[in-house]
Order: sequence, then C-alpha cells, then structure tokens
Amino acid sequence: MQHVMVIGGGVVGLTTAWSLLEAGFEVSLVERESALAQGASRANGGQLSYRYVSPLADTGVPLKALRWLLEPDGPLRFKPEWSLHQWVWLASFLSNCRGSVNRRTTQRLLALGAFSQASFSGLYARAELEGVALRTPGKLVIYRDTKEFATVASRLRSDPHNVERVLDYQECSCVEPALAHSPVPWAGGVFTAGEAVADCYALSLQLAERLRSHSHFKGFVHARAQGFVIRAGRAVAVQTSQGNLEAHAFVIAAGLQSRTLALSAGIHLPIYPLKGYSLTAPIGPEHKPPVVSVTDIEKKILYAQIGSDLRVAAMADLVGEDTRIDPARMASLYRSVNETFPQAAGYGAAAEWAGLRPATPSGAPILGATPIAGLWLNVGHGALGFTMSFGSARIVADLVAGRPSPLSLDGLQLQ
Ligand SMILES: Cc1cc2nc3c(=O)[nH]c(=O)nc-3n(C[C@H](O)[C@H](O)[C@H](O)COP(=O)(O)OP(=O)(O)OC[C@H]3O[C@@H](n4cnc5c(N)ncnc54)[C@H](O)[C@@H]3O)c2cc1C
Repeated sequence: MQHVMVIGGGVVGLTTAWSLLEAGFEVSLVERESALAQGASRANGGQLSYRYVSPLADTGVPLKALRWLLEPDGPLRFKPEWSLHQWVWLASFLSNCRGSVNRRTTQRLLALGAFSQASFSGLYARAELEGVALRTPGKLVIYRDTKEFATVASRLRSDPHNVERVLDYQECSCVEPALAHSPVPWAGGVFTAGEAVADCYALSLQLAERLRSHSHFKGFVHARAQGFVIRAGRAVAVQTSQGNLEAHAFVIAAGLQSRTLALSAGIHLPIYPLKGYSLTAPIGPEHKPPVVSVTDIEKKILYAQIGSDLRVAAMADLVGEDTRIDPARMASLYRSVNETFPQAAGYGAAAEWAGLRPATPSGAPILGATPIAGLWLNVGHGALGFTMSFGSARIVADLVAGRPSPLSLDGLQLQ
C-alpha cells in the first residue's frame, strides 16, 4: 500500500488526509505545532458558503479599497512592506479586478462549492461526525446602501439561472427577526437557502480523532517541514526538524506557510496573508442573535451562531505575516458590532482572535500536481477554506490516486 504524507494540520490538511485514506492510501500528517488546527482554521467565521462565493477581486474593488482605507472602521488596512512578494501579489490582485475574471472565478468556485457540499455530506456521514454545531439556516447578505442593493437586485432578477431570493427590508426581517433589533436602516438583502454553519475547529479536532482510529493512518508527526529530498525529479522525503521522513507522495496543505515550503522545492505560489479578526461571544437568554448566517456586505462582517456562541468575523488587512491582535482594529470591530447588532450577544465576554487567510490573487485555490513528481498541492483557499476543504480534499486524493479529477481544474491549478 502506498504511503502519502500530508503537510499541515489545519482543516485542509485534515480533510485531505481523510480523503486519501478513503482513496486507499496509508497516510501520515506532519504538523509543526504541538496541537492541530491552530492556524486559520482555529476561529474562522464558520460559514459553509457553498453558493455565495463572491471573490474579492472584482471590478470597482480598487476604488472601493481606497475608500475603505480612509474609513476609520473600514474593512481593509494596508501596511506597505519591504517585500517584493507583497507588491507582486498586489499587482496580480489588481490585474484580477476585472468583471470577466471575477465571473470566471465565481463559476469555478461555484462548481467547487457544489462539489464540496456533496463531499461534506459524505464525509459527515462516513466519519460519523457529531457535535460540530452544524446547522443549515441559509445565508442572508444584507445591504446598507440603497443604490448598491438596487444594482445587485436588478442583476439577480434579470439572471435566469439565479437561485437566490432578493428581499426588501420587510422580507429580510421575516427571514431574520434579529434585524428588528438592529438600529441600521437596512436597504434589503439576498437570501441563499441551504447555506450552512459549523465549528471549523471542533470539526478539525474530531476529524483528527477519526484519523487516529483509522487502521491505515500512521499517525501525526509534530515537526516543522523545511524542504524536500528530490531524486530524479521525484519527491522522496520531506526534510523536517526531526529528520527526513520518506513517503511515496506528499501533499502540501500548510495554509499560508505552503508558500515558503513550496519555494524550497523551487515552486512559486502566489499566496499572501489576508489578516482577519473574529469574536466569539456567549449568547444568553437576554440576547437577540441572528439565526441565519448574516453577512453585512458593506462592512464585510459575518455573524454566525455556533453552538451557544455568536461568531463574528471581519476584516481583510494586508499587513504581512502578523497574527498579533491590533487593539485599534479590535476596538473598531467592537464599535461596528455594537452599532449593528447591539443585543446579539455578550460582547463584553468575547474571545478575540486573529488569523491569516492564505489568499491567491484571484480567490481560487491551487489544487493538484506540481512539476515535481509525487509532490501535490492543496493550498490558497483564502476566505473560503472551510467551505471548499471537503471538495478540494477529494479532488486532490483522486489525482494522487491517478484518477481523473471529478471536476474541471481549469483555473484551479498551478500556473
Ligand atoms: C477571520 C477569518 C474568517 C474566516 N471565515 C471563513 C468562513 O466563514 N468560511 C470559510 O469557508 N472560510 C473562512 N475563513 C478561511 C479559512 O479559515 C481558511 O481558508 C482555512 O482555515 C485554511 O485552512 P488551511 O488548513 O489551509 O490553513 P491553516 O488552518 O492555517 O492550517 C495550516 C496548518 O499547517 C501548519 N504548518 C504550516 N507550516 C508548516 C510546516 N512547515 N510544517 C508543518 N506544518 C506546518 C500550520 O501550523 C497549520 O496548522 C476565514 C478566515 C479568517 C482568517
């Protein structure tokens, strides 16, 4: 039986390990931290947003970005770095800010999203997951600006393939009664039924337990992967802080750090950190939290009930590889949530977190082969890594097994 080693113990690496086991491999997983899922998968927004994919790179975004940078509580911050990587990524991002590119990326992510949703159902049943706060309340994207809402509404209403419901304010408050407790004069919203919410961290840990008890799982190795031993164009071992580890194949799924690791093998990955923040606030009997998963589109803030907590996730800061909590950004997030849903949860007792989305310029992940035989990628999932992890894992497992990808990889492969 062939042995595949996955590098990275976040939700993408763990789902990849599971899919590889299901594809008939022996699997082990290398994680640099002493605990699993401490990176971007730790306290993300929890939204399984299969049908509302909305890549950030779009026409009009560069202008909007300038406005956001000037707003005191804007969703974006930019700190110029002495790093060519930041500027190359930014230039590539700007070149992706075109309607045609956005439409193509959206189609690709929608296809991957649908596949991921189906893959999730299979994994959930076969891995016998439970207690991961899974709900399927649907997703409401709400608009403050009347003009912006009118533009979106007319585009959706004239699209014969549209499955989303365009709702005026009254209809929005029927779908989400918590809006009645919001002082914001909302213009309207778009509701997507079937979208889900779950606790990414709990799911990751539970999947790790299922891996541990699988007879073909060889175990977790807590070591830092530093490079690869390549012989005759094939990866034969990963070099780690605990020595070289051999396997028949390797999958890089190390989130943001995939870039450095791939670079050690001469592979350039266009991945840059988009830093985000989250709050996890307890919901008491006195609170009026949103029941559906809500995205305040102009502020770019997500609200999702995860178990007995409200998870609020926000912001996309281009400030380099820095996971420290910036008190000014946290204060800004508290201001926004208190102005938007003041009664939703006990914000005073919230747990604060910052994480780095491993983002590509287009917003599409990079899956599959590299120029080095036996070295595979499952990286660059950006703002949708939890959502897309289940489908991406199955695609990569199929490819490693020598089977054709279950869906077109156009635009989802290493260029
Ligand atoms: C604020 C915020 C909100 C978000 N909300 C959502 C949401 O609502 N829905 C959604 O779908 N997605 C969301 N995301 C995105 C999602 O969290 C990420 O895309 C996803 O977690 C990425 O998973 P990953 O496994 O690739 O990376 P990570 O979770 O970062 O895992 C990478 C792992 O690799 C390990 N590693 C790194 N380098 C090495 C090495 N050299 N050797 C060994 N191990 C290594 C790390 O320690 C880490 O454990 C959000 C992200 C943020 C920051």
